[in-house]
Amino acid sequence: TVRADASRNFGQGVKLEPKRLNAGRQLGSGSFGECYRGTLVTDDGDVEEVVLKRVKARVQGASEMHEAEHLINVLASKAAGEAVAPFLGYSLVEQTSGRLSKGLWLVWSYEGDKTLAYYLKRRDCERVLAADLGVEESQAVPTAMKQIFECLTALHNVGIVHRDIKPANIVFDESARRFRLIDLGAAACLRTGTNYKPAETILDPCYCPPEEYVLPTDVPHLAAQGTRLRTVMTPVLWTQHRPDCFDTYSAGVVLMQLSLPFLRTTSSLRTFNGALARCNHDLEEWRVRSGLPARQTAVLDANNGAGWDLAASLLRPREVVTDDSGGVKFLNTGRAPRLSAGAALKHSFIRQAGVQAAPADA
Ligand code: ADP
Ligand code: MG
Repeated sequence: TVRADASRNFGQGVKLEPKRLNAGRQLGSGSFGECYRGTLVTDDGDVEEVVLKRVKARVQGASEMHEAEHLINVLASKAAGEAVAPFLGYSLVEQTSGRLSKGLWLVWSYEGDKTLAYYLKRRDCERVLAADLGVEESQAVPTAMKQIFECLTALHNVGIVHRDIKPANIVFDESARRFRLIDLGAAACLRTGTNYKPAETILDPCYCPPEEYVLPTDVPHLAAQGTRLRTVMTPVLWTQHRPDCFDTYSAGVVLMQLSLPFLRTTSSLRTFNGALARCNHDLEEWRVRSGLPARQTAVLDANNGAGWDLAASLLRPREVVTDDSGGVKFLNTGRAPRLSAGAALKHSFIRQAGVQAAPADA
């Protein structure tokens, strides 16, 4: 583990000397920008496997204090540490050396090679997932979803909405044998206002809920309020508008991809999203119209269709209207509200997870 340097600054986490870092192979074969596997020499002289990411300055000349991804990681690791990959600290590189270019670098423990996207690409997805999770194959999907909802509950409980839940941002921690969330670059903390801008959407359209925003755009800008007013406002806004349900929609899409192998390509997912929108986000209607053969829907059909019921309650709309000034409001549709992560954990589909003993431990 890494102890705090003497230069530790409250609110920013541990500051790491650039000379302790070494950047190796680029992650995601270049498509992710500056994100590398690497190593960190700890205070004890041990060498730890890490992930290094250079943060793009979003505001010209912004001081390090205002770097949103950095601040959100500090908040999340302090308040919901189990939900996210361990954040080890940051480093200010002043002179480019090798792959470590000048700028602010964030450092996390390297959790392993497999994101949920890796599993979804494999033909034997369920088998490998079950083996890695240590559960029977029939429980692979409920168990993975349970872990995702546990992570989301922890983040939501401290006021953070992730806003970019998708398979590439869910990593398997090999040593703990469980999934954790990564990539808080788009996350917003509604308690502090960190990285929250009312009219901003920054999202992957394949996993983004139809309402597109975490809060209606006409609510007062949280970051602009004083701390005391924010403390009062956040719980009210949370109860009224359920910003956390932004993430549970994305989790609903992930559940569909885990359950229905034909939804694992981007093009088929786009087709699904379009078709679901034409059904007014009524999954039952989509199910009837799509006429899928039973051999494709076993995961959702099991346990009296528990999977269908959970997915339908996650993919429900928070209905949105645009007013004259272009502002976005959420309307009550009269249908039951979209499930929160905490409510999803109580659903019968999730409660079947991990009930049977792992075959390997028998
Ligand atoms: P980006 O903003 O470029 O999407 P991410 O934070 O999602 O950056 O990281 C890019 C990729 O690097 C992830 O999809 C994952 O494959 C890998 N990765 C990121 N963090 C970790 C981690 N802590 N452990 C293992 N792999 C990671
Ligand atoms: Mg990512």
